[in-house]
Amino acid sequence: MSAPTVEPEFAPRLRADLHIEAGPDTFVVTDPLLRRRLDLGAIGDIAAKLDGRAAGALVADGARTEQVVRTLLLLHMLEGAGEPERNRLRASQRGEPLPLVTLPGARFSCQGSGGCCRNYIFGPLTDADVARVEALDLTPFALGAGPFYESRPRPDGRADRFLRTTQEGACVFLEETNRCGLHARYGGTQKPGFCQLFPLVAWQTVLGLRVYDGGECVSFPASASEGPSIESAWEEARGLVPAPALYHPLVHLAPGAPCDLAWFLPVLDAMVARIEDRAHPVDTLRMLGALLARAEHALRRCPISIEGPHDAVKAALAAPAPSARPTRELEGRAALVELPRALAEIFAAPLSQPGRKAPPFTREIVAALLRVAEAADGGAPLPPEDPAGRPLWALSFRQHLFGQRALVDGRPRAALLRLCLDWLVARAHPAGERAGHVLAARRLDMPWQPVHRLLVGAESALDPVLDALPSL
Ligand code: SF4
Repeated sequence: MSAPTVEPEFAPRLRADLHIEAGPDTFVVTDPLLRRRLDLGAIGDIAAKLDGRAAGALVADGARTEQVVRTLLLLHMLEGAGEPERNRLRASQRGEPLPLVTLPGARFSCQGSGGCCRNYIFGPLTDADVARVEALDLTPFALGAGPFYESRPRPDGRADRFLRTTQEGACVFLEETNRCGLHARYGGTQKPGFCQLFPLVAWQTVLGLRVYDGGECVSFPASASEGPSIESAWEEARGLVPAPALYHPLVHLAPGAPCDLAWFLPVLDAMVARIEDRAHPVDTLRMLGALLARAEHALRRCPISIEGPHDAVKAALAAPAPSARPTRELEGRAALVELPRALAEIFAAPLSQPGRKAPPFTREIVAALLRVAEAADGGAPLPPEDPAGRPLWALSFRQHLFGQRALVDGRPRAALLRLCLDWLVARAHPAGERAGHVLAARRLDMPWQPVHRLLVGAESALDPVLDALPSL
């Protein structure tokens, strides 16, 4: 590995618009544009050297200085770093729309199954959703006592409101004809906002508004590959929902290695572009893991220059794959015993509470996770892969990596670990991969449960898990 390079002319300075609060052990930076506040720890001595002296001289001060300057570069905190993205953001805040970005060929066509209104997570409802539905005459729906929604506490003490469901887990407004009763009586614009948008998801990034299929439709992949383009589906829906706010989390390449999302979005796009329709899902997951590892490594050692991170990632992704590394299959299998069991415990908790209604999906996800753990522990193997399902997985992986599910709390490794679990849970579903896919898509992305915390805690197991996948 060659030593990181430094552009001789580059003289790093902190951006003048940042607000700094420096203490003996703290260096708190507030970015007024992103409204992001970050404590970088005891780096005040190094920040004081960013006074116009050349990067080469700074780096000669030692590894710690080099690392701090690189971190500031990766966080867009140096003058010039991320300037094009910040210009776009300023324009957006002035009311100029960011470009619409969709996956090439992405489509959506409702298959009319009504499956989105069964066994789904019907919320959270916004205040506007509640006010709009409360203003309607709901007497035709035999809701009985109480409002049309139920409140569920969050770990932070607040509560979210969700549409009430029947014993079978269907929305109380779903009619026997599989039609939405609110839509049929009062028009589509009276439904909760998430119903109007389903299954589209909109992610406002500094590079554009990414609109994609969240992959939670029971008819996926038919619904995701037929009908009009996602662009036209979005054109119909966009006026019905509030404009999405910018979602610009920090990307954590590793503990203590943060990076601005703008450096990482091209990595995700490169990963999406490499997914092949007919590839075995395990091969795809392992390819994605290898690309992620190369991009992470490149960013963490990138040249210190304005274009350094971009150039490093580009070179790393274009380079031939490195030769095989030692496999950590046993470690991966152990992780695939522990993590699914821990997740199953979380989902099973409501099942043991007297009087608490648990929808069928809850029982299914618990059973599927325990089945995965059993297979990883040397018990009954999972059913063989269904080659007919490969296009489904290619579509699903693309949509995930194009959208916000590419990260779990800013961690790409945790997100890729979740994709591995999606694949295993789908295989473990008695009704087959397709039913299992929607089960996993709907249940393994619940930030208000400790699911994300467990995935983040297990992210260091990603490489071993990828090694273990072929044996399951
Ligand atoms: S309100 Fe209508 S569209 Fe929304 S979940 Fe209920 S039945 Fe489905």
